[in-house]
Amino acid sequence: MSGRVTPMLAQYREIKSRHPDKILFFRLGDFYEMFFEDAEIASRELGITLTSREAGKGQRRMPMAGIPYHAASGYLATLLDKGYRVAICEQVEDPRKARGLVRREVVRVVTPGTVVDPRSLQEKNHNYAVMITESDQPAAYGLAVLEFSTGEFWAAEFRGDRPREALLDEIARLEPAEILVEDGAGLAAALGTAYPGRVGEAHPPPGGPEAAAKLLQEHFRCASLEALGCQGRPLATAAAGVLLAYVQETSASRAVQITRLAMRSHLDHLLVDATTCRHLELVRSSREGGRRGSLIRVLDRTATPAGGRLLRAWLLRPCSSLEEIALRHDAVAELVDRPLLRGRLRECLRRMPDYERLAGRAAVGEANARDLLALGTGLGLFPELGGLLAEAKASRLVDLGRSLPDLAQLSRSIRATLVDSPPAAVKEGGLIREGHDPEVDRLRAIAGGGKEWVAALEVRERERTGIRSLKVGFNRVFGYYLEVTRANLEHVPPDFERRQTLAGAERFVTMELKEREAMILGAEAHLADREYELFAALRERTAAECSAIQAGAAAAAEADVLACLGEVAALNGYVRPQMVDSPVVEIREGRHPVVEQILPGGFVPNDATLDGRGERLVILTGPNMAGKSTYCRMVALICLMAQMGGFVPAASARLGPVGRIFTRIGASDDLIGGASTFMVEMQEVANILSHATPDSLVILDEIGRGTSTFDGLSIAWSVAEELARMGPLTLFATHYHELTELEGSVDGVVNHTVAVREAGDDVVFLYRVVRGSSDRSYGLHVARLAGIAGAVRERARAILESLEAGCALSAERPAMAPRSAPKQYQLFAPPPSPTLEELRELNVLALTPLEAINTLYRLQEQVRRER
Ligand code: ADP
Repeated sequence: MSGRVTPMLAQYREIKSRHPDKILFFRLGDFYEMFFEDAEIASRELGITLTSREAGKGQRRMPMAGIPYHAASGYLATLLDKGYRVAICEQVEDPRKARGLVRREVVRVVTPGTVVDPRSLQEKNHNYAVMITESDQPAAYGLAVLEFSTGEFWAAEFRGDRPREALLDEIARLEPAEILVEDGAGLAAALGTAYPGRVGEAHPPPGGPEAAAKLLQEHFRCASLEALGCQGRPLATAAAGVLLAYVQETSASRAVQITRLAMRSHLDHLLVDATTCRHLELVRSSREGGRRGSLIRVLDRTATPAGGRLLRAWLLRPCSSLEEIALRHDAVAELVDRPLLRGRLRECLRRMPDYERLAGRAAVGEANARDLLALGTGLGLFPELGGLLAEAKASRLVDLGRSLPDLAQLSRSIRATLVDSPPAAVKEGGLIREGHDPEVDRLRAIAGGGKEWVAALEVRERERTGIRSLKVGFNRVFGYYLEVTRANLEHVPPDFERRQTLAGAERFVTMELKEREAMILGAEAHLADREYELFAALRERTAAECSAIQAGAAAAAEADVLACLGEVAALNGYVRPQMVDSPVVEIREGRHPVVEQILPGGFVPNDATLDGRGERLVILTGPNMAGKSTYCRMVALICLMAQMGGFVPAASARLGPVGRIFTRIGASDDLIGGASTFMVEMQEVANILSHATPDSLVILDEIGRGTSTFDGLSIAWSVAEELARMGPLTLFATHYHELTELEGSVDGVVNHTVAVREAGDDVVFLYRVVRGSSDRSYGLHVARLAGIAGAVRERARAILESLEAGCALSAERPAMAPRSAPKQYQLFAPPPSPTLEELRELNVLALTPLEAINTLYRLQEQVRRER
C-alpha cells in the first residue's frame, strides 16, 4: 500500500513515526500543515478549518489543517497552553535547488516546559519542567528541576521521613508546566489527577542511570560527578540526566544555556508545605485564586521580571540560616535608610531587560535581532548598576556589585553590528548597521543603485516612446516590468518583449531591464544571506557568554529583590526584626500585611508572645468574626517575611528562626482528592503531630469542627495537650472555651481572647487580643449581621437557652428541644419509668443468684416493652 501513497506522504509518515506523541508541524512552502489526527486536534483546539488532500492513487483523502508559518508562534502558544507538545519539521534544503522531494527534518520539539517564546511565558513566573525518579523499599525519590528559558537547573533527593509528601510539597511550590516521570512510575497516576495534561513520560537513555550520569558529566565538562555534588544522590543524578537528555532532544542547540547543576537539600530552608502555602495565601488568594489578596501582591514591587521570579522563590523558600537572614536584613536596612540610593537603583533596574531569558533564547537559536539588541543595550547597564552598588555599605550589596561580569565588549559589538530598530524577521535583511561589514555595504549599494537606475528608466522610456503613462513596476512572479495602457500600445517600440496581458494594459520587459533585475535580485539575496550569517555569528557569540550573562542577571535580580523589600518596608512602615537564636516570637503591635492594605487606618495592631521555653501554646478564644484567624496568620506571615529577608509589619519584633510552619485553617475540602472536610482536617492534624518540633510554628484554627461537638472537643483537647508536650510554638484558635481549662494545668499553655464590648443587645468587636478567655461565641450576633431573619434567630436563642440549661442539668449530651417546650426540666428529664422505680427499690443483697438472674431477665423484658 505504501507504494501508492505520494512521496510526500511517505516522508510525512516516516517523520511522524518518530514523534507519535506530538503534533507535527510539517512545513510546506509558506505553511505548516498538519495531517490526520493532528489536523483534527488542531482544527478543534485552534479553530482552524479542516480540509483534506489527495493521499495517492486509490487512497482515501487525508484530513489536513494548516497555519501560515509567519503566524505560527501564536498558534503554537495556544497548543502548549493546552498541554500539547509540538514537533516543528522544516524544509532543510532550498526548494529551488532540491531535486525531487525537499528534505525535511524536525528541528525543534516545543513542550510546555521547554518553550522560550515570551508569548508562552509569564514574566514574573518561572516555567519549570521537572523529572521525577523513584525507588521503593524504602520509598525514595529524585527530582530534577529545569527552567529552560533561563537555564536554572537543580536536583534534590527525598528520602527518610515521608519522602512522598515532601516531594509533592516541592512540586506544589514549583507549579511545573511539565512533569516527567519514568515509564509506569507509581506516582504518575496521582500526579496526573493533580496536574491534568501536564504529566508525560521520559525515557532514561539506554544504559540506565550510569548513562544519565555520564551525559551530565559531558554536558558540564566535569572530570567527575563528585564535582557536581552528585555523590550519594543516585536518584537525583538520574533525574537530572534524564531531564537533560530530554531537553537536548527537543533542541538542536544542545541546551548551552544550562551552565550549572545545583544539588539542593529540601531541608536547608524554612519549610512551607503546600497546605500552608495555600492557607497563608502566599502567592494566590484562596477566594479568587489570583494574586489579588495574596502576600506576593503586597510585596512584589520588583522592577524586573527576573526580580519578580526571585522574590517568589524567596517567599516560598525563606532562609533558616541566621547568617544569611542578617546579610539580607542589613542590605534592606541600608536601602530603607537611603531612599535616594534605593530610587536610583530601582530606576537603573527598571531599564534592564530579562537577561536570562534573552540569553536562553540566544542559546537555543531563537533570539531575533531585536532580542540581541535588547540584551546588548541591557548589558551596557551593568557598570552603572555596579557603580550604584559600590556606593552601598551593606556587604551583600557590595558583593552583588562585584559579581557583575564585564560584558562591555559584547555589548559594544552587538550595538555596533545591528541597526537601531531591526525587523523581527532574521532572514530578510535589514539587520546590519551601515559601515560594519564591507560586503554588506557593497551589496546594499548594488541593490540600492539598481533601484535608482530602475526609477530613472521610467523617465527615460517615457521620453523615448512618448508614452506619458508608461510605468515601471515589480511583482514577485514576473520581476520588473514596463506597463503600457491599451490605448498606447501602438507606440510600443520593437525591443519591448510582451510578458503579461491585463484587462486595460500590457506588461513588457527589455533586455536591459532583465539584466539589471538579475543584478538587483542577486545582490538582495546575497545581502540577506550575508546579513543572516553575521547575525547568526553574533548570536552564537552571545550564547557563548551565557554563563557570564546568567551570573550578571542573578546579581541584578537579587539587587532588585532587596531594593523591592526596602521599598515595601518604607512604603508600609515595616521594621527590621531582631533575630535571635532561640525559638521565640515577640511581636509588638503587629499587623496582617494583606488585611491592613484592605483596611487602611482601620486595622487594629496586636502583640504576640510565644516562647519555646515558657508560654509556648496560646489558646485563643473569642467570638466568630472577632479576628482570631487574622491574628494567627499575621504571626505566621511576620515570621515568614522576616526569614525571607524582609522587614515586618509591626512596631517591633524579636524572632527566632523557625524551621517549619504548619497550618490547619478553616474548611478546605479536598473534593478532587476525594476526602471529606473532616478527613482532610484530621490528615492535616496528623501531619502536624508527627512532624512538628520545638523549632516549628504551628497555627491551628478551629479543629474538630467537622464532627459532633463532644467528639470534636475531645480531639481538640488531646491535640492541644500533645502539642504542649512536644513543644512547638503554637497558636490554637478555637471556639471550644472548655480548652481554656488547660491553662494552669498543662505546662506552657496560656489563654488569650479577642476582646469585645457588649452594648445592650449589640456586640462591638474590638479586634484586640488580650490575656484571658471568652466563654461566648456570639454566633447569633453574627447571624444578625449576616441578615438571618428575626424569627429564626429568636427560635435559635430559645433553643440555645434550653440547651445551655439542659447541659447544666444533665451533664449529658442534650437532645433537641421540642417546639413547644413548656418547662425546661421537662425537655431533658425522661418521664418516670416503672422499671426504674422498681430497680431503685430492689434489695439486691437479699436475692439469691437465681432470683437475681430471673429479676434481671424480667426487668429487661419490661424495659423493652416500655420503649
Ligand atoms: P475569626 O477567625 O475570629 O472568625 P477573622 O480573623 O476571620 O475572624 O476576621 C474577621 C474579619 O474581621 C476580617 O475579615 C477583618 O475584616 C476583620 N479583622 C480581623 N482582624 C482585625 C484587626 N486586627 N483589625 C481590624 N479588623 C480586623
